[in-house]
Amino acid sequence: MARLIKEKNEKGRLHIDSLLMGESLVSKDFLQRTKAKEQFRMHPDINVLKIGGQSIIDRGRKALLPIIDVLVQAKEKYKILLMTGGGSRARHVYHIGIDLGMSPGILSKLGDRVAWQNAIMLAVVLSKYGGIKISTGDDLQQLTMYCQLGYIPITEGIPPYGLFEHPPEHGSIPPHRTDCGAFLLAENIGARSLIYLKDEAGLYESDPKKVKKADRKRLRYFDRISARELLKLDLDDLVIERPIIHFLQKAQSIKELQIIDALRHPEHILAALEGKHVGTIIYQD
Ligand code: ADP
Ligand code: MG
Repeated sequence: MARLIKEKNEKGRLHIDSLLMGESLVSKDFLQRTKAKEQFRMHPDINVLKIGGQSIIDRGRKALLPIIDVLVQAKEKYKILLMTGGGSRARHVYHIGIDLGMSPGILSKLGDRVAWQNAIMLAVVLSKYGGIKISTGDDLQQLTMYCQLGYIPITEGIPPYGLFEHPPEHGSIPPHRTDCGAFLLAENIGARSLIYLKDEAGLYESDPKKVKKADRKRLRYFDRISARELLKLDLDDLVIERPIIHFLQKAQSIKELQIIDALRHPEHILAALEGKHVGTIIYQD
């Protein structure tokens, strides 16, 4: 049992004897010693799939139904958590919010509601196959159980920073949106894999949509790149949110992620779940 220790002076504090006793929990040197040998994995069989708002959901039926078919098939073999993006409606509300001078935290709360709508919509479409909308609160502790019971849990991707969102490095859009949320959750639950369902084959040196069709073939494509190399390249635009690259460098559990074109190749979802390399893999080196 933990021992109580009284500091030997008049206004002495009463400590509980432990590794962290009397520490500010700020010292770099001290914190280094708190690193777990191996991080505990709460949901080691869960695959986190982030489905893009702008890249997939906003395209409606034509894009979504083939993906739904694959997900229903995949669910028989793999445990899946679906996390949704916001897309055009989030961009619209950000635009109005920016015009009003709103802070990133307020914008984050507004965007969150759009990703929430998308999660509800997916849950409705998937309901007859076991789709259920879950919260980003305590429900997340029950992911494995939901999947064992045959459900497909679905939640919004935005991490619940809300009014606690960090100041952005550039501009006023909240930097941690749904791609970040999927990463942070996958890392903290010790997920089996993290896959981003987008509308491009993965990472290029710049946004292929902003390059003339004739020049696209010449655009450099990365089928595999480390977080460190990617940071060094300092590309102006990326296919996933930038903070993820920093997270990945420090991650204890998620050592790589894959970005796939689920729009043209919904079958790549199953391939990626099988561990096949069908898009861009970004890894920790
Ligand atoms: P989502 O809705 O999945 O969050 P976004 O539209 O926010 O998707 O981001 C994905 C888009 O990012 C791609 O469709 C692509 O047009 C764009 N993009 C920007 N930079 C790059 C890049 N370097 N490589 C590939 N795609 C990029
Ligand atoms: Mg996005």
